[in-house]
Amino acid sequence: MPDAFLDFFSDTKTRPTPAMRAAMMAAEVGDEQKGEDPTVTRLCERVADMLGQEDAVLLPSGTMCNQIALAVHCRPGDEVICDQSSHIINSEGGGPAALAGVMLRGLPGKRGIFSAADVTGAIQPESRYRPRPRLLCVEQTSNFGGGSIWPLETMRQVTAAARTGGLATHLDGARLFNAVVASGVGARDYAETFDSAWVDLTKGLGGPVGAVLAGPRDFIREAWRLKQRLGGAMRQAGFLAAAGLHALDHHVARLAEDHANARALAAGLAQLPGIRLADDRIETNIVFFDVAGAGYSAVDFVTAAKTKGLGAGAFGPSLVRMITHLDVSADDVQRALEIIASLRK
Ligand SMILES: *Cc1c(COP(=O)(O)O)cnc(C)c1O
Repeated sequence: MPDAFLDFFSDTKTRPTPAMRAAMMAAEVGDEQKGEDPTVTRLCERVADMLGQEDAVLLPSGTMCNQIALAVHCRPGDEVICDQSSHIINSEGGGPAALAGVMLRGLPGKRGIFSAADVTGAIQPESRYRPRPRLLCVEQTSNFGGGSIWPLETMRQVTAAARTGGLATHLDGARLFNAVVASGVGARDYAETFDSAWVDLTKGLGGPVGAVLAGPRDFIREAWRLKQRLGGAMRQAGFLAAAGLHALDHHVARLAEDHANARALAAGLAQLPGIRLADDRIETNIVFFDVAGAGYSAVDFVTAAKTKGLGAGAFGPSLVRMITHLDVSADDVQRALEIIASLRK
């Protein structure tokens, strides 16, 4: 029997577990758009509480959380400060320009992490020549920073620098729980230093659809207006919220397994001739490595891996990304390493 496809492209590749599906089918539901879905309400209250925020709203995706947050915090022509590797710059289809109409200033952080001095340096004196700096965005963990974790202290310093400069602050917490589990710092500790924050249900948590955006009550009221405008208001979304609640109960602590698997993957890759880790510090579930030494471009490497049953992502001329998650085991990591070893030219 051929082995099942091992998909390390992203932690979005998980499929709901049987227990999650059962929780979804048992969900009590109502019209979410009218505030009548009790399961969605429970999920939103729970996430708001976990993040130390007043209120929350369920959205179809993390991308919509970011886009709505930018539009609520900013006016067209305003400037958003974030790391140059950030998802809002590189992976949201130009949404910040098309939807909120904002400028993005990408800071040259290390592993996706910049300093308070970088923020202060980017906040220029008021001038009618310059876009008005309005918002600071931080990604925890940093995706293109290799799953790196912002230390709480650094986070507090950059948000303080932003506030001093009159900026609002927003946390892209697509993988916040990976940081929580790896660092032992609470989700609330990370998130309450921000004016708005969200978590994705579809990354490490293993849910099928959705993300929850949290913030002050008046911020969420405005977020709801945009959710409605963009067509993100739903109906019996309790089926999705039930998956999220199940994930919060059962899929947070286990992220430690994904982190151990990512470290094992990186250790194995480091042994392979021609493969060079982009960073040997593997803090969570993301591993980037360079395949130029093996005679491959990233795209050719990923294509070759796919024909042998392994999914990975090409993120640069010779940079490949693999992410561990709920649907890949420690054995799968070993099989993935065997496949990669067999790709040597
Ligand atoms: C995946 C991701 C998003 C977008 O989330 P979706 O639910 O896929 O739209 C935003 N930011 C980061 C850092 C991500 O990794």
